[in-house]
Amino acid sequence: MIPAAFDYRVPETVEEAIISLADNPGEGKLIAGGHSLLPMMKLRLAQPGVLVDLKLLREQLSRVWLDGDRLRIGALATHAHVASSTIVRQACPLLADTAAEIADIQVRNRGTIGGSIAHADPAADYPATLEALGALVTVQSASGTREEEFDSLLIDAFYTNLGETDLITEVSVPAYLPRTGGSYHKFANKASHFAIVGVASRVRLDAGGRIEHVTVGITGAGPRATRAGRVEDELQGKEPTGENIDAASVHAAEGIDCLSDLHGQADYREHLTRVLTGRAIRDAAARAAA
Ligand SMILES: Cc1cc2nc3c(=O)[nH]c(=O)nc-3n(C[C@H](O)[C@H](O)[C@H](O)COP(=O)(O)OP(=O)(O)OC[C@H]3O[C@@H](n4cnc5c(N)ncnc54)[C@H](O)[C@@H]3O)c2cc1C
Repeated sequence: MIPAAFDYRVPETVEEAIISLADNPGEGKLIAGGHSLLPMMKLRLAQPGVLVDLKLLREQLSRVWLDGDRLRIGALATHAHVASSTIVRQACPLLADTAAEIADIQVRNRGTIGGSIAHADPAADYPATLEALGALVTVQSASGTREEEFDSLLIDAFYTNLGETDLITEVSVPAYLPRTGGSYHKFANKASHFAIVGVASRVRLDAGGRIEHVTVGITGAGPRATRAGRVEDELQGKEPTGENIDAASVHAAEGIDCLSDLHGQADYREHLTRVLTGRAIRDAAARAAA
């Protein structure tokens, strides 16, 4: 299919991009990697009157750096860049491992972390990990710059609280502390690699080997990514034994209104959520102990 006609702008600065959006209320749409937006335009599910291409901002907005105890990633960093970055691998390997699980190399070479966040696909991989890491998202708009929790930015499937002139400039996550491990497990759609269910966990152990802090983020199961708060509470202060992890993982799907579609029924997704939660926590704890 051929997209509907549109005007095309290529701003040289973030400010120019925001002006292009502000000048075209209800019509302007940013394009980064184009791997989610272009298919939607071809299917005419999206028909922006003005396409604002961020390609000239790549250098400025794809930087990856350590800022004190936080790892910062520019919104235009591709999945391939995040997967292979030495800084990400050292400061937060869970994020690099998740990026490496996205789709295939062609998609990873074009798709960006900012585009993935803004698109809010319920089957995307990053959301599980960004939930587990308590990520913050920096957004610039006509009314200024704000930093927002990833969790509060997500509203529903393909729906965020981003406004018409909002442009994500970066994402930040805490760098690992000592005795921290992380793991992402997904049951993938064989064709697209999107997550039917994906679970990310980060575990920090205390000096005695007990769980000091554990987080679990889940994607694919429901209309938006969520934290498995009950699982986290159950494991606090406990030894990371298989028995304890299995007992806690039983609660992984609580509070999720699991989706039913041609890839899997709700009860199957609930089952996957529990199984993958157990595997992700086990691996994360083993890495924390290593
Ligand atoms: C065949 C195929 C398989 C895929 N498999 C997977 C998979 O297994 N796992 C997975 O997670 N994803 C998968 N994807 C999605 C892929 O990761 C996308 O690239 C990504 O979700 C969107 O990033 P993008 O840069 O391409 O965004 P675009 O398509 O350019 O934009 C997507 C949306 O985000 C907005 N946007 C883009 N950048 C910004 C910004 N900086 N600030 C505000 N809004 C912005 C756009 O306006 C648009 O609404 C797949 C895609 C394809 C085509």
